[in-house]
Amino acid sequence: MKVLISGAGIAGLTLAYWLRRHGHEPVVVERAPHGRLGGYGVDFFGTGYDVAARMDILDRLTPYRLPVDTVAFVDASGRPGARMTEALLDRIIKGPHLPLMHTTLEGALLDAVGDDVEIRFGESIAAVRDTGTAVEIDFTGGGTQRFDLLVGADGIHSRTRELVFGPEPGFAHYLGCRLASYPVADRYDWGRVRAHYTEPGRQVVVYPTGEPGELVALFLFRSSHSGNVPRAERPELLRSRFGGMGWLTPSLLADAPDGESIFMDTMTQIVMPSWHRGRVALVGDACGCMTMVSAQGVSMAMAGAYLLAEALESERDHERAFARYQERMHGEVTRRQRNALRFTRTLVPASRAGLVAQNLVSRVIMRETFAPVLRSQFGAGSILPART
Ligand SMILES: Cc1cc2nc3c(=O)[nH]c(=O)nc-3n(C[C@H](O)[C@H](O)[C@H](O)COP(=O)(O)OP(=O)(O)OC[C@H]3O[C@@H](n4cnc5c(N)ncnc54)[C@H](O)[C@@H]3O)c2cc1C
Repeated sequence: MKVLISGAGIAGLTLAYWLRRHGHEPVVVERAPHGRLGGYGVDFFGTGYDVAARMDILDRLTPYRLPVDTVAFVDASGRPGARMTEALLDRIIKGPHLPLMHTTLEGALLDAVGDDVEIRFGESIAAVRDTGTAVEIDFTGGGTQRFDLLVGADGIHSRTRELVFGPEPGFAHYLGCRLASYPVADRYDWGRVRAHYTEPGRQVVVYPTGEPGELVALFLFRSSHSGNVPRAERPELLRSRFGGMGWLTPSLLADAPDGESIFMDTMTQIVMPSWHRGRVALVGDACGCMTMVSAQGVSMAMAGAYLLAEALESERDHERAFARYQERMHGEVTRRQRNALRFTRTLVPASRAGLVAQNLVSRVIMRETFAPVLRSQFGAGSILPART
């Protein structure tokens, strides 16, 4: 089958790889002019790790493990309070865990796909017509082409979803928090730690990227505004929301690059009753964004792509395959969305009292005794059937 995939991110590249392995003919269009640069770190474990092992790309990933041994919640002077060590995280996850830059994983997936799949960078879909026997796609760069299927793997603000299922507000559940990140020079002789500093309504997180002398600064803040912030306005918005904040914040703000290099988005979950319509299906954040709080978006994107390719292989009929894929994945995503929703309420407390409560709970819960409770919250194991 000829399958057009919109988006060369985690889900799109994983899907392209497995479709090709099953003998199909995927073509990928990616809006960005090249593979993405910079970005943020992801905790990589569970199903995603399992899919990566099945793709034989772990050797390509492990040398780029982020140099972080401890997650620490610090006070205004940088003194750590509650902490989560790598050993405790291992007990919670009870399996391999590999913190990585998101771009490292994308790069490895791109290498794995190799020259076997046509990837058109700087291209997007402009219109979709499902004729019943094929999908006709008009491209933004011009031209029309027919495919057997279209899969939207174009992330939280999916264009495929908008064209086929309807406008984003119909599926988006904004959690009341925005996030932004950018790389900064290490002026602090930083160690192997990811540090979180929180004041009411706002949080700053810093960790090393693994590139010598480079850190990521991540900013989380409560906001009632859920719209896009134009790139040119991002530095000023961060300065206004984080002005007067303690710890390293003034220096991190002073090191902000221009708006073009600042990643900023809302914490929004995408909730859809159905992930497919006719000859079109969605995968990854496009249909089931859980937000960074779940720490499993990458895993579920890879799981969805793997199981979608597998369903298309075993069912042959695309409608049965789409239904089987959704049946396998929808409940898993919904469960993780519910967990993330609960956790988001306490992630950036709005008040001093909430902050005190968060500190107390963190100190109590980040102990070995609670590892099983945290594990069940996380849902950290692989959801894939064992390899035959
Ligand atoms: C700060 C932060 C921290 C996170 N931490 C974690 C973590 O610790 N663990 C974890 O598992 N997950 C984490 N996540 C979530 C994770 O990054 C996502 O869930 C995951 O990347 C989703 O993969 P995806 O392929 O569906 O979407 P994406 O990775 O967003 O890929 C979508 C692709 O589609 C392309 N695209 C968009 N629009 C178009 C278009 N119109 N035409 C063509 N191409 C298009 C984009 O350029 C992109 O390449 C985090 C997210 C953030 C923001």
